[in-house]
Amino acid sequence: MKNYKPYPISFEKGKGIYLYTKKNEEYIDAISGIGVCCLGHGDKKITKVISNQANKLLHTSNIYEINKQKELAKNLCKISSMKSVFFCNSGSEANETAMKLARLHANKNNLKNPKMIVFKNGWHGRSFMTLAATSSESAKKGFSPLPGGFITLPLNDINEIHKVIKLKQVSAIMIEVIQGEGGINISEKNFLKKLRDITKKKDILLIIDEVQTGIGRTGKWFAYQNFGIIPDIVTSAKGLGNGVPIGACMGNQKVSKLFEPGSHGSTFGGNPFVSTISLEVLKIIKERNLLDHVNEMGKFFINQLKDDLGNLKIVREIRGMGLMIGIELKKPNLPVVKDCLEKQNLLLNLTSSNIVRMLPPLIIKKGQLKTISKKLKFVLESYE
Ligand code: PMP
Repeated sequence: MKNYKPYPISFEKGKGIYLYTKKNEEYIDAISGIGVCCLGHGDKKITKVISNQANKLLHTSNIYEINKQKELAKNLCKISSMKSVFFCNSGSEANETAMKLARLHANKNNLKNPKMIVFKNGWHGRSFMTLAATSSESAKKGFSPLPGGFITLPLNDINEIHKVIKLKQVSAIMIEVIQGEGGINISEKNFLKKLRDITKKKDILLIIDEVQTGIGRTGKWFAYQNFGIIPDIVTSAKGLGNGVPIGACMGNQKVSKLFEPGSHGSTFGGNPFVSTISLEVLKIIKERNLLDHVNEMGKFFINQLKDDLGNLKIVREIRGMGLMIGIELKKPNLPVVKDCLEKQNLLLNLTSSNIVRMLPPLIIKKGQLKTISKKLKFVLESYE
């Protein structure tokens, strides 16, 4: 089907932050398959665990207990401060699960017309419900009627939240603390603290979508940990499997009581294969101290980019946290991605029409970040 329009290039193998074509041409991957391959490509430990588990067992279904899934759930609860986990296969599905939990919560509280607050420039997926919660008009085009019940508000405006909560029966608020697809927009700490306070007070579920920001991307296991808050629900996917499809919806004590046997399910969710690999991803991040590494590299990269690109007329702002970086350009729809690919063998992405987005593998080193910055400078300079 014609829903994608890929660049006419294909990669045959990868090693670390590099990807290679059939002719062995080398490219730097600064987007990690849209924030997925957090450990880079061809990690030896991951490859070994995949191979061992493939030899043992792939799938049994949730009709039976899955020990590795339990172990993974325990690990995820520990690093997120949540109480229980539902496993699925993608970010959309994890968010869909969170929304079903919000509906159960609303019904338990006898809300007749429950609403969910979401944010301008937010992105939560492409299933009907998560698309309805997504702000992009172009992603929604042609798919109406979409499910209702969402109220979209501007980020960082607590007064708007108070106004809506007064007038409507709000059961949940869903937010990315750093918006990814929306252009690397970072929430204000004070706003998030107030959001947590009001949601606690009013028994509104605070759902944080960590599909793009989670699993070390911002220098903490989850981005909300940079802001001193703990939500009721956390969703994760992308980096959780390092390329193996897995999603997770985690909930606190209150949320954990909402599902009963039969309420929700997934055939593949948390099967022995993906659970084993995801466990290894978490173990490697811990063993290699990658959270500290991401913090250090993130600061280095932002400074390097500011040095190299800060004075270019085309650049409006350079922002980010950890290795989630956005460079806002003054002109929309420039051919940055094509030019970086064709002229500099550099893979990155443009989001919201004018934000150059980079999500390099978490294992990236200073010298490699320097190279990326120089390559990008070369391309951006040509637009001056
Ligand atoms: N939430 C966020 C914040 C995302 O960035 C994405 C994907 N870009 C999704 C949800 C949807 O995830 P998936 O494509 O795995 O369904």
